[in-house]
Amino acid sequence: MSELELLTVATRNGHKTQEIAEMLKERFVVRDLSGIAEAPEIEETGKTFAENAALKAVGISRVVPGMVLADDSGLEVDVLGGAPGVHSARYAGVQGDDAANNEKLMEALKGRPEAERRGRFRCVLVLAREGEVLAEFSGAVEGHLLEKPQGQVGFGYDPLFVPKGFAETFAELGPEVKNQLSHRARALDGLMEWLEGR
Ligand code: IMP
Repeated sequence: MSELELLTVATRNGHKTQEIAEMLKERFVVRDLSGIAEAPEIEETGKTFAENAALKAVGISRVVPGMVLADDSGLEVDVLGGAPGVHSARYAGVQGDDAANNEKLMEALKGRPEAERRGRFRCVLVLAREGEVLAEFSGAVEGHLLEKPQGQVGFGYDPLFVPKGFAETFAELGPEVKNQLSHRARALDGLMEWLEGR
C-alpha cells in the first residue's frame, strides 16, 4: 500500500478541517494547526478571499514543513452588496461567533422575499510549500437564505443556506450532500485535478 502524503490545513476551524479531510482522505493524511504550537496567527488583512488564502498558506508554510493548504471562504449576499464576504467569520463583530453572525444576517434580510435572499458561498484554496504559492483553486455554490435557521449539522451559515435545486439547508442535508456540491468541494475538485496533472 502506498503511503499517503501529509497535508497541513492552515486553520484552527475544525469544521473546515473535517470537511477537507473527508474529501481528500484517499490522497492525504490531513491535519490542521490545532496541535502545532509554533504556527503563527496570520492576520487576514486581504480584501479578497484569494489574498487572505495566500497570506495564510504562505505564512504557515514558512514554518510548517510539507504542503500547506489554506481555505478562505464566506457568504456573499447580492442585496447586501456581497456582504458578509471576507468578513463572514466576524460579521457580527466577534470572530467565529456563528450564532451572532446568523442573527445579524437574518436581521439584515428581514421581510425580504426569496428573490432578494439570493447569494453564494465562495471558497478559495491556496496550496503552498516553503513560503511559495504552488497553485490556487476556487469554487462557489449558489443558493438562498432562509428567514430562520433549520438543521443541526455543519457550521457557520449552513442552517440558513439552501443550495440551488434543493429544499433543505446544508445543515439539514448533512455532509454527504454538502461535500458533493459545496464551494469547498468544487475548489477541492480543482486541487485533485491539479495533483493528477503534476
Ligand atoms: P475564514 O475562516 O476567514 O475563511 O471565514 C470563513 C467563514 O465563512 C466561516 O466562519 C463561516 O462564517 C463562513 N463559511 C465558510 N464556509 C462555510 C460553509 O461551508 N458553511 C457555512 N459557513 C461557511
